[in-house]
Amino acid sequence: MSASRELSATEHNKIRAMLALSAADALEPNETEEVLQHVRACPQCSAEMEQWQLLSRGLRQLPTPQLSPDLVQRTCARAEARLIDEREHAWNRRVMISLVLLAWALTLMSWPIVRLVSSGLLSMLDPRLNQSWLGFAGFTSLVWVTGGIAAVLLASYQRRERSLA
Ligand SMILES: [Zn+2]
Repeated sequence: MSASRELSATEHNKIRAMLALSAADALEPNETEEVLQHVRACPQCSAEMEQWQLLSRGLRQLPTPQLSPDLVQRTCARAEARLIDEREHAWNRRVMISLVLLAWALTLMSWPIVRLVSSGLLSMLDPRLNQSWLGFAGFTSLVWVTGGIAAVLLASYQRRERSLA
């Protein structure tokens, strides 16, 4: 007894999963037959099937969207624009790296000047020389990196504005 009830519960779940497909006419004929047989005997599935059929009929009554050549063309253009965008993105990254390297080069180059200018002060702070150099280098890099990021963001923002226009 319990075995057959279990079997019908399994069948019920299996058929329930197929109801939507059946309503959409997406099943094999023998599967459709199986579903219809169960639906006739199972009020729960019958009610659910009705809902799916309503939905399916409603969907079929909607106008089918036609792919216009214009849309295809626009999609191609958009894909192309994105490709260009990605290429420019890679270029931006290279610019960023160059900027960071340049920042370091400038920092290294300007350090002797700073040191020369404030040599009197620094000689008094000699034990902390290393620390202040690091602070100076870090600060300069930060300024340059921030500037670089801002430039890159601004460029990409402008490009997006242009592509939307
Ligand atoms: Zn059922």
